[in-house]
Amino acid sequence: MANKDKVFDVIMAISDIIEEKKLYLTQLDAAIGDGDHGLNMAKGFGAAREKLESGSFQTPSDILKAVGMALISKVGGAAGPLYGTAFLNASKVVAGKEEIGLADFTAMLESALDGVKSRGKAVRGEKTMVDALEPALDALKAALDEGTAPEEALNRAVKAAEEGVAFTKTIRATKGRASYLGDRSIGHEDPGAMSSYVILKTIAETCS
Ligand code: ADP
Ligand code: MG
Ligand code: MG
Repeated sequence: MANKDKVFDVIMAISDIIEEKKLYLTQLDAAIGDGDHGLNMAKGFGAAREKLESGSFQTPSDILKAVGMALISKVGGAAGPLYGTAFLNASKVVAGKEEIGLADFTAMLESALDGVKSRGKAVRGEKTMVDALEPALDALKAALDEGTAPEEALNRAVKAAEEGVAFTKTIRATKGRASYLGDRSIGHEDPGAMSSYVILKTIAETCS
């Protein structure tokens, strides 16, 4: 599914799409937060890009670790450290490996999600990135059990994340800044769930 060069390409593609969606993600955050999610993400993945372009990395794990560190150190706000933790956890899962397969990716997403949930103290249904990531993980696990081909498995995960984003529109936020709005947060998609969907979609597209 992905070797070191592919993982490098995935991060560059994520950096590009986040830059492209910067205004959109920021607008989503302006509706229920403080209007900086796109800016935060673009800053973090811009820093990750610079780090990758200026260094040399031996394994997928080394690349993911550099991304995680960049996100944690360069991004203020809630999402930077949460995504940073996610990438660091994913990095640890494949330490020393040359090639990432579907089972590896599933384990990476599981550990990434565990990191987000323990650091953010959020569970599914609180209108956060967890609402996109957890359904995606469940879809991947099911696909893996069924012996589904990687491309199809990733597509199912992306679809589940997209449905998760749509679900966030229907619920009230109980974590993060949007929770200050109470019921007024209903009717808006969660920006972090949207960025998680965008990232998963980019991973799926770059790896197939
Ligand atoms: P901030 O809210 O600090 O300005 P961002 O705007 O970059 O940070 O990110 C907001 C996103 O972070 C939210 O849309 C939500 O998905 C996610 N988020 C916020 N708090 C939490 C939390 N405790 N657990 C999981 N995700 C969270
Ligand atoms: Mg914000
Ligand atoms: Mg902020």
